[in-house]
Amino acid sequence: MALFQTIETPLVTYEQPLGLFINNDFVKGVDGKTFETINPHNEKPIVAVHEGTAKDVDLAVTAARKALEGEWKHTTPSKRGHLLLRLADLLERDINTVAAIEALDNGKGVTEAKGDVTSSAGCLRYYGGWADKIFGQTIDTDSNSFTYTQHEPVGVCGQIIPWNFPLLMFAWKIGPAVATGNTVVLKTAEQTPLSALYVATLIKEAGFPPGVINIISGFGRTAGAAIATHMDIDKVAFTGSTLVGRQILRDAANSNLKKVTLELGGKSPNIVLPDANLEDAVTWVNQGIFFNHGQCCCAGSRILVHESIYDEFLALFKKRAQQNNVGNPFNPETFQGPQVSQVQYDRIMEYITDGKRSGAKVITGGDRHGNEGYYIQPTIFADVNENMAIVKEEIFGPVCTVQKFRDEKEAIIMANETNYGLAAGIHTTNINAAIRVSKAIKAGTIWVNNYNTLHYQMPFGGFKESGLGRELGSYALENYTEVKTVRVQLSQS
Ligand code: ADP
Repeated sequence: MALFQTIETPLVTYEQPLGLFINNDFVKGVDGKTFETINPHNEKPIVAVHEGTAKDVDLAVTAARKALEGEWKHTTPSKRGHLLLRLADLLERDINTVAAIEALDNGKGVTEAKGDVTSSAGCLRYYGGWADKIFGQTIDTDSNSFTYTQHEPVGVCGQIIPWNFPLLMFAWKIGPAVATGNTVVLKTAEQTPLSALYVATLIKEAGFPPGVINIISGFGRTAGAAIATHMDIDKVAFTGSTLVGRQILRDAANSNLKKVTLELGGKSPNIVLPDANLEDAVTWVNQGIFFNHGQCCCAGSRILVHESIYDEFLALFKKRAQQNNVGNPFNPETFQGPQVSQVQYDRIMEYITDGKRSGAKVITGGDRHGNEGYYIQPTIFADVNENMAIVKEEIFGPVCTVQKFRDEKEAIIMANETNYGLAAGIHTTNINAAIRVSKAIKAGTIWVNNYNTLHYQMPFGGFKESGLGRELGSYALENYTEVKTVRVQLSQS
């Protein structure tokens, strides 16, 4: 099979790389396997890409190790930063192409996809700016010694990303890793391999030395597991399900105790207090659950509303959800496209069926949208209880539940009634209530009077079973550096 193919989209026609990206070259997999990626809008294959397995991961790790100990080691921090800035410029130059790939492969609306490109470029620039501003400390313990710390790259980093934000997750991962002088073997999700492969051409064009960033298309159980268990990978960063996150942690422990950061699932509460501005709260609650078709680990899927405003809120929220533009990702007006795959579609529809069966009331939605593609109507359930699967489990689709609470204390108890702790929202005009409730909620990000407003300057990650460590902001740099302490005994003459 070829290594490139011309692809036509409603927005652009472009050359899609199909190979694995190792040592700045596109190559076939050692086993000669390929797999198809599906267009979720029409359920038809877009193209087949070369599949990486453990042998290809080995080759990529060898390339990454060689780069780490060779040219990359001697690349100055400023130059590393410059390369990231250049990559960001190239991404923005090709924004239409990259956004079209995301719309085609993932199904997200092209306008949202352009937002992902801009935000990815911003993230790369942010970490590009950090590259030459990373330093240790001098520590004065006593007059007979001189002690300092040095922040060194961890080494070869394995990075495993999901399909919900294929490009953005790629940027979140490579940005801090490369800025701090590491090299990378990144596996994309099998549902969405295309955008990262296109960006690989930009990585080469930007001038990154061979082996610094390697990209493997492949499956979790083969290529992903090969990364997690690899004896020559120093760190693994994973974003995906809690189930797989546990496996990665076990694999790391059972192999070489590589460092692990995990960004996992969630079942985040979005709380509307009685004094909230209702119009604004409805806008953010709608954005909180239906943005990216509900395929966000931080989705505000449990909506908790004070009993005094419950009926009014629910009526407004229903109306707003029904106005969400569901349809073809290539329509610039589309807010919600199809779910990413048949598997995800089936899983979400099962939750909807289960919710109906267990007695929850469908306020709106509850069915597929149209008759082709993995489209699901924005769905709101009410009259639920805490034992229902739709209230307890992460659905990862455009489905939410609305529950009533009597007072702030009860809202906090309900909000924390989950093994997850990724995010939460609070809607109120009372600053004291906002801060009080923020303090009481066990979650990594609290959005007050907004939701899902991620930003590369803000750390992101989970309490409890939502993860380990933080991505983004300066906090992410800590994941990618080892601290070395040097203590020098001074001679007395
Ligand atoms: P989802 O269920 O939403 O697809 P996953 O957690 O299964 O989420 O997938 C996220 C990423 O993890 C994907 O790149 C996938 O290929 C990878 N993955 C899945 N299983 C494993 C595994 N056992 N080891 C390593 N990576 C895996």
